[in-house]
Amino acid sequence: MTRPSTLSSSLDLIGNTRLVLLRGPSEAAGCEIWGKCEFENPGASVKDRAALWIVRDAEARGELKPGGTIVEGTAGNTGIGIALVANALGYKSLIVMPDNQSKEKMDTLRALGAELVTVPPTKFADCNHFVHTSRRLAEEMDGAVWANQFDNVANRRAHLESTAPEIWEQLEGRIDGFTCAVGTGGTLAGTGMGLKEFDDKITIALTDPYGAALYNYYAHGELKAEGSSVAEGIGQGRITANLEGAPIDTQFRISDEEGLEWVARLLREEGLCLGLSSGINVAGAIALGEQLGKGSRIATILCDTGFRYLSSLYSAEWLEAKKLPVFDWLRSS
Ligand code: PMP
Repeated sequence: MTRPSTLSSSLDLIGNTRLVLLRGPSEAAGCEIWGKCEFENPGASVKDRAALWIVRDAEARGELKPGGTIVEGTAGNTGIGIALVANALGYKSLIVMPDNQSKEKMDTLRALGAELVTVPPTKFADCNHFVHTSRRLAEEMDGAVWANQFDNVANRRAHLESTAPEIWEQLEGRIDGFTCAVGTGGTLAGTGMGLKEFDDKITIALTDPYGAALYNYYAHGELKAEGSSVAEGIGQGRITANLEGAPIDTQFRISDEEGLEWVARLLREEGLCLGLSSGINVAGAIALGEQLGKGSRIATILCDTGFRYLSSLYSAEWLEAKKLPVFDWLRSS
């Protein structure tokens, strides 16, 4: 991959993120664990890629007209990506979020000029769920397009066409496994499909948090959730269109405690400030590395920046309220 240092468009800042060898996780697994630095995207998360592909797809299909509005339901990161892409291309953005997501994500969306609507968190079957609310708002508004990241496969195409070839080139074709958690499934399915096109022997693994139904689906054929997680942006209860046909070979389930331990270690030992889904992904990558054996090479996704969670993951008060272990260095502050 050539990562140019001059670009003719701000949108070209999306993607071409670097891949970093994670020392602690590699030592723990006895293999190489590489993290794709998606926090390097302009919106500081992996979801900028999906946002760009979805908007470009809506333009190409003639649905999105000059001055139009892009409407989306999101845990926040996709909304941030859409707001940035919309600004760059002269569109407006209307973002619907459940109100239990991080304050930093909501503040960021308002700062970027998106119109923000928050709804109480509900089950997907409830008609007021953030996804259904966003669809309704798009239907009611002239000139609006619903991004529909869960079931719009332009999302996974972003990863098939960008994330997968980047990883393949960055590791010079020497990669044994890839894993990440699922929100929409775009990252796992698209990157998995893309890597399999290069070499179908690459093992693609699902790393599921508790509270999601996919681990049981891929392991036992039954969509069944157990437990819960505070991780934002991941944890899916159904097979989205993006997940359909995803080439998943194996699956792991990772607790918030395990994910948090890696969030803490990556911060203190490697100077990487990440969100919880990244910690869960790294724990999954270690499990995959242990399964594939010594000397294997695994890639995973460092989904977003920890600066987005200063008032939650990095707050002793918040961690205590969630009955999660408090990072040592937060206790004295
Ligand atoms: N981590 C975070 C922090 C996210 O916001 C998301 C997107 N919802 C994901 C992981 C999962 O990505 P995907 O939607 O591609 O499955």
